[in-house]
Amino acid sequence: MKIYFYNTMTHKKEEFIPIDDKEVRIYSCGPTVYKDATIGNMRTNIFQDNLRRTLEYNGYKVKQAMNITDVGHLVSDGDEGEDKMIKSAKQEGKTPLEIANHYTKLFFKDLERLNIELPEIICKATDNIQDMIKAVEKLVEKGYAYETSTAIYFDVSKLDKYPVLSNLDVENQKAGARVEVDTEKRNPHDFAVWIKAPENHLMKWDSPWGPSYPGWHIECSVMSQKFLGEVFDIHTGGIDLIPTHHENEIAQSKGMCGKVPAHYWMHGEFLLINGGKMSKSLGNVYLLQDIVDRGYDPLVYKLFCYSIQYRKKLNFTWEGMDSAKISLDRLRDAYQKQLIGTDEIDDSEIDKYRNNFKEAINDDLNMPVAMSVVWEVAKSSKKSKKLADLLKEFDKVLGINIDYVQNEEIPEYIKELLSKRQEARENKNWEESDKLRDLIKEKGYIVKDSKDGQTIEKIYKW
Ligand code: AMP
Ligand code: ZN
Repeated sequence: MKIYFYNTMTHKKEEFIPIDDKEVRIYSCGPTVYKDATIGNMRTNIFQDNLRRTLEYNGYKVKQAMNITDVGHLVSDGDEGEDKMIKSAKQEGKTPLEIANHYTKLFFKDLERLNIELPEIICKATDNIQDMIKAVEKLVEKGYAYETSTAIYFDVSKLDKYPVLSNLDVENQKAGARVEVDTEKRNPHDFAVWIKAPENHLMKWDSPWGPSYPGWHIECSVMSQKFLGEVFDIHTGGIDLIPTHHENEIAQSKGMCGKVPAHYWMHGEFLLINGGKMSKSLGNVYLLQDIVDRGYDPLVYKLFCYSIQYRKKLNFTWEGMDSAKISLDRLRDAYQKQLIGTDEIDDSEIDKYRNNFKEAINDDLNMPVAMSVVWEVAKSSKKSKKLADLLKEFDKVLGINIDYVQNEEIPEYIKELLSKRQEARENKNWEESDKLRDLIKEKGYIVKDSKDGQTIEKIYKW
């Protein structure tokens, strides 16, 4: 069956034709490990997981590389501001390495809890500095980059076309009143591939241009080429990476080898919170840990993300999470019921479901349509192990552990704490009641108060 993906490069949904007919190579822009990953970041990771699982379901082997940016990503995403790693290190009173190790560990913990398949190659920017220096030397040698007193800049006027991926209006911006920060730049859109380190800068390496460090974009150009070759199949990331990071990656690759590095450019839309941006100032930045702390299985969030296709904005609400929780429970319950069913099912019926499911995922990862097929199977009036097996097969793409059986048994000591808390509440001893709630939470359960009394949910720790 054919696969179709929307390609940001051509603005069209196109048939996916891999370079190699057995193995698909994907490069995914990974996290800058200076802070906690949010559930927004995780939406992009869930989309990327869907992509690789869909390809695997279609029989391809996947070779995916993901970078860990631990140097060079400046606060502005462009050439201005402090390095995010250094800023965070100063704020937290740690070294950049400590910061990187800490947040990298948390990032992978979230991937694990969301049952996200790990990329075959995970590459840290700071492990590949020498390759980056060689690449910058090559760009300078070929006339694509030039040195100023502060950096090595890429000269975008040397390209046949810039931009190619986004709709940056370079001509108008040139003529307009854009104030240039660096007067040594030849063109306003020239960007730093390599940056000279000011004195006392925390992260720097010896290079032909003195102590310095890489720009964020060169990291991905160099590591994608090193681990996947000059041209690979798919490049992914969040939609915000299109106009700067990915545009500049393409520019550099064209400078290095004359080629656009990937055939298909796929971008995930943003997760919104109550219709708006997630931001610290609004106090609405949620982490996966917040979801766990409220008593949800992290995979509820994954299922929640399937309510809309990856190219559309998704609005996060706790009400939406509650519906997704009910859905996940029902799907797992339906799986168990199918598993013990003995009704006769014709193979042609199984094939029809399988076909519809595959058609949906192969249509640019249309998860809402794929989920409607999953529900048809789950809710079928016929109960059969064949349908359970089919649900398990679909779970290879969904990754929601459909066969997971939750142990509903609440231990006696928790029940005792609950009844003590009930007593405290009846005596209006709120302090004691809160203390007991915290104690129960420490033991791995969340207590919620409703008009019908206390309810309890297990905290998932996987
Ligand atoms: P960052 O750590 O902010 O550089 O982002 C890492 C990845 O997460 C990038 O691919 C971003 O595009 C993506 N991302 C950041 N915020 C969101 C969001 N609210 N929704 C979806 N993806 C996001
Ligand atoms: Zn990147």
